Amino acid sequence: MSLIHYTRCAVCLGKHIHPVLDAKDHTVSESVFSIWHCKDCSFRFTQDIPSIENIGTYYQSTNYISHSNTKKGIVNKLYHLVRNYTLGTKARLLQKVTGLEKGNLLDIGAGTGAFANTMKQKGWNVTALEPDAIARNEAQKNYGLELELPARLFEFGPNSFDAISMWHVIEHVHDLVAYMRQLNKVIRDKGRLIIAVPNYTAADAATYGKYWAAYDVPRHLHHFSPSSMEIMGDLHGFRLVATKAMWFDAYYVAMLSEQYKNGRPHLIRALWQGLKSNFKAISNEKKCSSVIYIFEKKLFIGPIEFQKE
Ligand SMILES: [Zn+2]
Repeated sequence: MSLIHYTRCAVCLGKHIHPVLDAKDHTVSESVFSIWHCKDCSFRFTQDIPSIENIGTYYQSTNYISHSNTKKGIVNKLYHLVRNYTLGTKARLLQKVTGLEKGNLLDIGAGTGAFANTMKQKGWNVTALEPDAIARNEAQKNYGLELELPARLFEFGPNSFDAISMWHVIEHVHDLVAYMRQLNKVIRDKGRLIIAVPNYTAADAATYGKYWAAYDVPRHLHHFSPSSMEIMGDLHGFRLVATKAMWFDAYYVAMLSEQYKNGRPHLIRALWQGLKSNFKAISNEKKCSSVIYIFEKKLFIGPIEFQKE
């Protein structure tokens, strides 16, 4: 299998990149991947990644599901409980930052369509993209939503959307530059781009090191610090207007990380680590385990041309 080896940072194109840690794929392959760091913009990325054609096998987690025990069950149950709560929070946030009760939304990486459906219920005109066929079927079955393939993104015309959301999605996208350029094209002037990703500069990431579950190699190709995210937006015609903490992620990530580090999920220890991490983020939401970045499309973008090597 041919692997993609980066010789430059995908965010700032800097060449000062070096390995910082080796992380293991705990959910599917047990393979080890090297995570590299860019000295210029502090972006991190998984090095020597499978190509877009080959990464599908790393998403086949039937082992993980069939071997799940009751403790994994607790993690999963909590995850779904929290997800239902956060759906409402996300919907209100989107309405607030766009200043719109209703509008045109593009939700990329819609999964089984829960967020797309929530926005549709609120009267939004929602276009949702999802690569996974099983997820698309679920969305159709559960909500009657017709999700489309991500390649559709490159067919929309300019100024098509008031808002674009990517909830824990962009870290999975192979061609960051092509995506960012296209997002800027299809969103209207002053439109809002909402990107949620894990934050490796959070305290829980430091606590767990290579066991930090949100590295999730090789499915997570990119690992953002708040400043590298801001730089990426800026280089592609977006201005960072706000950041929001995702408080529940610290607990969920800590529970998985406990399992990876010690072979079993330790509920109390995970809650404690999650709490400690969130405590540090109270005064600075950019320290939270996962961060929501809200960008505004800039009215004028400079003549920046990205070239692939
Ligand atoms: Zn960089």
